[in-house]
Amino acid sequence: MQTFAEELQALRAEGLYRSMRTIHGAQGGRVELDGKDVLLLCSNNYLGLADHPVLKQAATDAIGFGVGSGASRLVCGNMDLHERLEARIAAFKGTERALVFNSGYAANTGIISALVGRGDAIFSDRLNHASIVDGALLSRANFHRYPHRDTAALERLLQEKGGNGRRLIVTDGVFSMDGDIAPLDKLVQLARRYHALLMVDDAHGSGVLGDTGRGSAELFGVLDGIDVQMGTLGKGFGSFGAYAAASAEICDYLVNKARSFIFSTSLPPAVLAASIAAIDVVDSPEGEQLRRRLASNVALFKERLQGAGFDTMGSETQIVPIFVGPAEATMEFSRELLERGVFVQGIRPPTVPAGSCRLRCTIMATHEPAELEGAAEAIIEVGIKLGVIS
Ligand code: PMP
Repeated sequence: MQTFAEELQALRAEGLYRSMRTIHGAQGGRVELDGKDVLLLCSNNYLGLADHPVLKQAATDAIGFGVGSGASRLVCGNMDLHERLEARIAAFKGTERALVFNSGYAANTGIISALVGRGDAIFSDRLNHASIVDGALLSRANFHRYPHRDTAALERLLQEKGGNGRRLIVTDGVFSMDGDIAPLDKLVQLARRYHALLMVDDAHGSGVLGDTGRGSAELFGVLDGIDVQMGTLGKGFGSFGAYAAASAEICDYLVNKARSFIFSTSLPPAVLAASIAAIDVVDSPEGEQLRRRLASNVALFKERLQGAGFDTMGSETQIVPIFVGPAEATMEFSRELLERGVFVQGIRPPTVPAGSCRLRCTIMATHEPAELEGAAEAIIEVGIKLGVIS
């Protein structure tokens, strides 16, 4: 049996060792990283709301209700702020009801393992987020993975597998490491045809995609064709937590069955108040303006990178991967960029398949175009130096 130290050493040898970097001060488009001012190009705080004055004020005011919620929702941790946030989410998404979870990870593991169990079947895009995979494993349902965005392959699986139990099709709305979008229009049709439930994890689309920020389902005009719209509040909304927006029946079922909901202390007041304020901002003319700025920043950045010959892996959103391949070269790329004042993380296995390591650049509405031009120049310089482009 290997010791922990030996396993860690093996990770180092393969270029797969992970460690954390420290940010001092607020989360913004620029941050102070280990004492150095850098352009932040790897945050999911896409609209820059994490340090927005209106959210901070809402959190500050809610501190008047204390810092902790004291218990899980079903014991005595259900405060009126939880219900106000849920009503706000349901109104925003146009669903009958919404249920708040403590994080996206807790939501996916809780929702999936509640909706399906032994004898049921899950159909999951091969590139879905790890928390969906973990939820599927916890559920003990039969787990069928279909090739990325391949609806023909999914249809074959739906015809062949599934038996008499419940069927759940689950997909990321925006794929977190690739920045492309699931074919939700076709998935809605397949779910109807094969009597399956459809769950969409829109962690990276919520607040950001669609004319009004309702996410990837709004892009396809299928907001009412999805049984469970899962979203997170810690990315585009700049706060923390997650939700399922669904029918009253499904939410009621989750209250009774989702173990991550039942057995965990509920979110605290300041976070809930900040989330309500975040949805108000997203759902306002200011939100529209932020989405427009984000879109124009993304277009500028992609144009520079693609013009220089980088492979951005089919990105359709503010998540812009740069394909590198081997782990060591990817980490070297990231180190070289940091020396030039640009903070981008390299993404390696197990987050992505071996041989498809990449830099995952994420663009924010609050980046200045000149900052993105400068970052693109640095990326091109390092890309040529390391032979990623010629
Ligand atoms: N789903 C997706 C697609 C994600 O990218 C993430 C976070 N990286 C999560 C779920 C988990 O959300 P949270 O960070 O709120 O736990």
